[in-house]
Amino acid sequence: MRTSRLFPTLLLVMLASFSSQLVAAVISGQSDTDELLFQTFISGVLAIILGALSFILYRLNKRLKLTIQAHQVNEHTMSKLNSAVTNSGASILITDHNGKIEYVNQKFCRTTNYLHHEVIEKSIDVLSPKSHDHDGDTPLLSKACLKSNWEGEVLCLKKSKTEFWNAITVSAVYDKDRQITNYVISAIDITALKTANNTMQTLALFDSLTGLANRRLFVDRLHQSVLSARRHNKSTALFFLDLDQFKRINDTLGHQAGDQLLLVVAERLKTCVRKQDTVARLGGDEFTILLNDISNTDKIASIAEQILHILKKPIKLGKQEVIISTSIGITIAPADGVCADNLMKNADMALYKAKEKGRDGYYFFTEDLNTRANNLMQIEHELRQAIANNEFYLDYQPQQNLKTNEVHSVEALIRWRHPTRGEIAPAEFIGIAEETGLIIKIGEWVIHQACREMRQLYDETGKALRVAVNLSTRQFSDLRLVNIVSEAITESGFPAQNLELEVTESMLMHDMETVIDQLNRIKAMGATVTIDDFGSGYSSLSYLKSLPVDTLKVDREFVRDIPDDINAMEITSAVIAVAHKLNLKVVAEGVETEDQRDFLIINRCDFAQGFLYSRPLSYEALRAYFSPQDDRRRA
Ligand code: C2E
Ligand code: MG
Ligand code: MG
Repeated sequence: MRTSRLFPTLLLVMLASFSSQLVAAVISGQSDTDELLFQTFISGVLAIILGALSFILYRLNKRLKLTIQAHQVNEHTMSKLNSAVTNSGASILITDHNGKIEYVNQKFCRTTNYLHHEVIEKSIDVLSPKSHDHDGDTPLLSKACLKSNWEGEVLCLKKSKTEFWNAITVSAVYDKDRQITNYVISAIDITALKTANNTMQTLALFDSLTGLANRRLFVDRLHQSVLSARRHNKSTALFFLDLDQFKRINDTLGHQAGDQLLLVVAERLKTCVRKQDTVARLGGDEFTILLNDISNTDKIASIAEQILHILKKPIKLGKQEVIISTSIGITIAPADGVCADNLMKNADMALYKAKEKGRDGYYFFTEDLNTRANNLMQIEHELRQAIANNEFYLDYQPQQNLKTNEVHSVEALIRWRHPTRGEIAPAEFIGIAEETGLIIKIGEWVIHQACREMRQLYDETGKALRVAVNLSTRQFSDLRLVNIVSEAITESGFPAQNLELEVTESMLMHDMETVIDQLNRIKAMGATVTIDDFGSGYSSLSYLKSLPVDTLKVDREFVRDIPDDINAMEITSAVIAVAHKLNLKVVAEGVETEDQRDFLIINRCDFAQGFLYSRPLSYEALRAYFSPQDDRRRA
């Protein structure tokens, strides 16, 4: 019988025997009730004692059971915890309060390659990398990490002395007096994560070719540098660099050589600056330098000179050796501005000026440059409106045949009638239109207008003139050019054979294959090609042979110096002779005097164009020039 039921049962048995005795005594008429009462009392007391005893037994039994149960639960929990720690996916270390290792789990041994006994009783410092191998900013695992509640990322050391990153959590164990007895360290190897993170950061902030800072990082550092300079009353210098011959080297020696060149430049630039400065590559051959915390701005020019000097040393690219020059634009903060965006623009403007001044030099930003840049922006804005408002028109300058004295061709020259500023010469806006890409639209209009007006001239006067249209570099490299020309011809009904396209030498210098292809496509339509301003660029008579061109235009600069400059005369006569050998016609432009004309006639130049014959004429003037009543037509 269970103890829990023993007590009430005993009590019931006692009470039953006591009452039955009492009832039996009364029924039998026993007279000795005192004795009976005494016996009954004794029985009752015994019953109570027995009952109490069985109750105490019952309670003791219950408590014992609870204790056993609690013990079993504890044991189970401990075994679970033990298994969790032993088999944990994280490395677990337990040290004493001084950092002496008391326990390591299996994961720790697998990760560090230490055997259990090799680290037990050792200080946690056995896992610390050498501090002198790292800068002060790298967090290393050490006793210093043992705090009551700490977590962070630290660099640790394996048995093989390989370093690896861990995310660790440290918690302290206290005794009943609140004294730390142990530290429990849980560590997760995050080396792969860290590497991936670093790679992503590198991709986002550094140039993949040179490893230099990219634009994003550079602008950020510029921002910081300007703030710090203002705080410490110092200056920041910003350099924009552009390699003068990079494109040519890339085009002639190939992209691999170009990349190699950029790598050498990057290395050389790094040697010109201090550790706290930043060298960046914004793209292509555009490098920037940030000089921080400058106390004496007078030194900036000498740094620029040093850079120019170092970059000018020969660079070996495979078997070739090249020498490059560089242009540098410089701006200084806070003197020239404090906004990173503006400083970048300033340096860019100064660079542009450095190039304009003949390259291979440096130029400091000035307020004048800023004014000029603002003017350029204004012109760009106005150019956009000019297209929409039809403010452009064409003048035509006749070209005289020096053998027949007749005029069969004209050159179309664009003019801009500005609503408030009046006439603006092409030299003032063609460059900006080129830079902004607006030249594509403007140029398209010129081709259409020239064809339309020459067709109209034919309709009005019966004169079938050839017209030469100037192309800009951008237009020439635009693959839609052939379509634009063919549209203009179809739309106007002007014969393609009478259309001449003028290109400059510099346009032909890059990517010969594409150039020749573009020229052939133009010629396939029936139009002809003229090289304008011949002699002003990298003139090379030899490459003329390979180009499908029809006419050479001797640059005005040579004609201008005839007959005073013997060189100009020799060059002009040589160009005419070689051009004829190659079956090309020659036009001399800028003919202003009779001496010049005579020289050209003697040297068998084919055509002449210049103020001596006629200034550029408006369409109306040209029509008058060729109208039957006008005598000059027969001149
Ligand atoms: P360019 O093609 O060499 O045009 C000849 C320039 O010489 C014209 O200047 C013309 O007015 C000028 N000129 C002609 N004869 C004489 C002379 O005897 N003496 C002097 N000193 N100059 C003379 P313009 O019209 O100012 O044009 C300048 C340049 O602007 C042109 O040089 C051409 O490169 C460019 N240009 C003109 N029209 C267009 C166009 O429609 N499209 C493009 N892309 N460029 C154009
Ligand atoms: Mg021209
Ligand atoms: Mg010209």
